[in-house]
Amino acid sequence: MPFRGFGDSHEAHLYRTLIKGLPHYAIFRINQEGIIESWNAGVAHVLGYSEEDFLGRSFADLFTADDRIRGVPEKELRVAASEGRSSDERWHVRKNGDFFYADGIVAPILSATGEITGFTKLLRDVTNRKLAEQEKDRLAARLSEMAHALDLTHTIIRGLDGTITVWTQGAEFLYGWSRSEAVGGRTHELLRTEFPESLQSINERLLEEGEWQGELTHATKEGKTVKVASHWAVHAREQDSDGVSVIEVNNDITALQATQAELEETNRKLARANAELVSFAYEVAHDVKAPLRGLSGFAALLSRTLDSSFAEQHKELLEKILQSSSKLEELIDALLEYATAGDKAGYIQPVALEQTIKQVQSNLSTVMAEAGASLSWGALPVVRAHPVRVLRLLQNLIGNAIKYARTGISPVVRLSAKRLNDQWQIDVEDNGIGIKPEDRETIFVPLKRLHGAEIDGAGLGLAICKRIVEGEGGRIWISSVPGAGSTFHFTIPDQY
Ligand code: ADP
Repeated sequence: MPFRGFGDSHEAHLYRTLIKGLPHYAIFRINQEGIIESWNAGVAHVLGYSEEDFLGRSFADLFTADDRIRGVPEKELRVAASEGRSSDERWHVRKNGDFFYADGIVAPILSATGEITGFTKLLRDVTNRKLAEQEKDRLAARLSEMAHALDLTHTIIRGLDGTITVWTQGAEFLYGWSRSEAVGGRTHELLRTEFPESLQSINERLLEEGEWQGELTHATKEGKTVKVASHWAVHAREQDSDGVSVIEVNNDITALQATQAELEETNRKLARANAELVSFAYEVAHDVKAPLRGLSGFAALLSRTLDSSFAEQHKELLEKILQSSSKLEELIDALLEYATAGDKAGYIQPVALEQTIKQVQSNLSTVMAEAGASLSWGALPVVRAHPVRVLRLLQNLIGNAIKYARTGISPVVRLSAKRLNDQWQIDVEDNGIGIKPEDRETIFVPLKRLHGAEIDGAGLGLAICKRIVEGEGGRIWISSVPGAGSTFHFTIPDQY
């Protein structure tokens, strides 16, 4: 109803006083041009204006810039004029520029003759309600999202006796039973569940601890077997156990188990093949060495029985045959060592590296003396390894450090150790010729050498080192400054 113009009656005076005092409602009069002509306590409370500030202002100032551009204030007055009232909810602006959400009514003020003389506007701050509504909408959206996500999982909600109340889309997909077929039925009968222990003891544990986890075997509608990792949780426990509801989430691990079984089978085959290869290498080495030994034996015999009349040149040739066959024998031994260096058959035990290095020093004493080499080490740990292989590893690295020295510079070799998590890193540092960056991988490849016959070697030493280190579960690499020296690093498990 439009307001009639207030006369001077006692009633009108009371009405005005009431309006002036209402603190939570901003109620004011606007003339036909939209200029504010009255104020009440609610204006100060809701909009933040004092009476002086408020009177004479355009009521469009109370709208957001966006609404002003869209002509919302004028439209409000037009609607109120033509329809007798305009009401809406929207964001408004306080004097300090803050936004607040308000519901408002505009109604025309009519003269005694029924002409519009102005408007009354009433505004109430409902920001809190609006924010609560927004939060509620946000929560409802989250909830529906979560419900949707849950629906995609293989989840069943059921009573303790198995009576199904919720059967998700995911469960439909996994088991083939539709929602209407499953709800009301009993899980364990429907899915022909095979339990790892009696259902009674599982239920006892479930009620006691609130949850249970284990692997189950289920049957699908088509009769296919599905292995699942099942997680049960008690949802709502009421007075008697009949009121308990159980959330059962089942994850299909059929494929995972099949892959695991395949992987184990492949590993077994690999171990068998490796063992066969090692025994094959032994046989080949044995078979090749037998005629080789014959060859060098006969050559030695021949050399001893030749009389002095035999040409010196022929003696040299015989000597060469002897040398070649002994090199060939060394190569066969090295190849055999390479083939067997990584196999797991060897025994692993605590090895004090300090003892090993002393042994290496004694084994290489002649070579070291000839080269004028010095070998030193810092504190060395006890590691868990194959003792003979570790000896071989360090001997190869130190032997190389001496062999690949710079001309005219005595080899200086130093060993140090540093602790990583459950491993040790051992560094073998030399002052030799160094290795170019592009050769840092190649040198570990079997039979790859960077030198010709001028330096003795078969190109298997570092390949054997790599097999030994990797066989012990570590890795080996090198850092080097060409022309200044190299450091070989390897990791090896701690003794524990
Ligand atoms: P070999 O010594 O029998 O040639 P290795 O496998 O022990 O075989 O080494 C491969 C190559 O790596 C060597 O030919 C050599 O060029 C290079 N090398 C190995 N150790 C060092 C080192 N400490 N300093 C410089 N070069 C090295």
